[in-house]
This record gives sequence, C-alpha cells and structure tokens, in this order.
Amino acid sequence: MLEANQLMVFYENMLALNNVSIRCEKNQIVGVFGANSAGKSTLMYTLSGIMEDIRKKEEMAGGERISVLGDIRYLGEDITGLKPSKRAKKGIVLCPERRRIFKECSVLDNLRIGGYLATSSQAKDTLAYIFKVFPALEKLQKRIGGFLSGGEQQMLAIGRALMAQPKLLLLDEPLLGLSPLIQAVLVRATKEIRDEKGISIIVTEQYARPVLPIVDYAFILENGTAVLEGTRDELMDNPDVRSAYFGI
Ligand code: ATP
Repeated sequence: MLEANQLMVFYENMLALNNVSIRCEKNQIVGVFGANSAGKSTLMYTLSGIMEDIRKKEEMAGGERISVLGDIRYLGEDITGLKPSKRAKKGIVLCPERRRIFKECSVLDNLRIGGYLATSSQAKDTLAYIFKVFPALEKLQKRIGGFLSGGEQQMLAIGRALMAQPKLLLLDEPLLGLSPLIQAVLVRATKEIRDEKGISIIVTEQYARPVLPIVDYAFILENGTAVLEGTRDELMDNPDVRSAYFGI
C-alpha cells in the first residue's frame, strides 16, 4: 500500500533519516520503534508530506535548510512531491505526536474540523463509529478540548484523524505519557479500527512492548537508521531484540 525507499532527511547538516526504507501493506499494522530522537516524527512528517510544508516555511523564513531525498509510492502512485493536503485527500492521514488537538474548541468541533474532507453522510457515520470505539468521548462532546485528560485528548486526536476518512493512518507516539490502563484502551482501539474499518496503520512508539501484540511487522530506528525489521514473531523470537528493545 505504501512503500518508502531510501529516505534521507537532513536538518542543515544533521542527518535525521539515513537511507530508511519502510513499507506497509493493506490491512497491516506496522510499528516503528525507536528511542528519543531516533527520527520517528521526521519519518511521519515525511510520509504525510508535512515535511514539505516545514521545509518551505523554513526556506521562506530564511531558517534552516531541510533536504528530503528518496521516494514514496502509495497505492501504485509516486507521491514523493505531493503536497500534504493532496496526500490527505488520497487517504494518508497523520495523527501527530503530542495530540495537537484544538484546545479552545469542543470535542465535537474538533471532530467536525477533522471531517472537512468527508461528505455529510461519511461524517455522520464516522462520528457514530468514533463514539462506538471511544464511548468516553460521546459523553464529553461539549467539553472544551483543553479540559480533557491526556488519554481523552489522544482519543480525540485519533477520532479527528478518522473523520478525515483515512486509508492509511499514521499514529505518531499515541501512548506518550499515558497510564498503562489508558495505553491498553488505545492499543485495543487501534486494532479494532484496523479490523473493523480495514484502515492500514503505521504506529511509532518509543517502547515497543505495549504495541507489539497488535503489529504485523515492525522496524527499529536508531539514530535515523532502520537497524532491524521483521514480523512480530521474528522480532519476538530474537533474544537480543527481546532484551534490548522490548525489555522482556
Ligand atoms: P521523539 O521521541 O523525541 O519525538 P523522534 O524519534 O520523533 O523523537 P525526531 O523528532 O524525528 O525524533 O528527531 C530526529 C532528530 O532530528 C533529533 O536529533 C532531533 O533533534 C532532530 N530534529 C528534529 N526536528 C528538527 C529541526 N526542525 N531542526 C533540527 N533538528 C531537528
């Protein structure tokens, strides 16, 4: 479904992604695991195309020089130079790190804003689906986003991304800073979304352990380099990997 080949991203002379190739097949959940600064968000920005906006903004402001190399194919099409808005229309939707919900807006308005690409019947159906997956949000529809807990904000961020009708959902560190209990709710919901809606998912996390049970395939990033990849079972069966990356 998505195939990125030999991605290289430089922030000035700092190499943030070094020759990274990853793929996600239809209906798969693919994990990308790596420590702080490994390049996870850079990868997500590059796949969603937001890196192009960041690059242009920096260029116009006379800021840092960002260079992006490599190519990205999605559903058989080369989307390397495509704007993020065009990628979103084609179904690549990013749920960014640290939620980035609209804190002054209500839960319902956050979701409606996310639905700007949807027809009214899609928006209605998706809203009902979000409330099925995250019943907590239904009761909080009128609550201002900034007053939600971290876990609720993450549910809202995922809900908002679903409103954009993704075929490929990019989840950047959805579990960051949340309690194990909420993490488990989010992990279960992520699997449910793939199983029930057939949405493919690429999910990044610092710690593989909570997400590993639901991924089909995973990549491990270290200092911008993909040092290891394999199916969940291949990674789990490798004793070095187990202790070094999964803490088990
Ligand atoms: P985290 O878990 O902290 O979010 P990450 O794996 O998402 O980490 P990135 O945010 O992609 O990592 O950062 C990769 C590297 O690129 C880091 O060393 C970071 O400091 C650097 N970096 C990220 N954005 C910029 C930028 N705009 N300018 C310069 N360096 C940057």
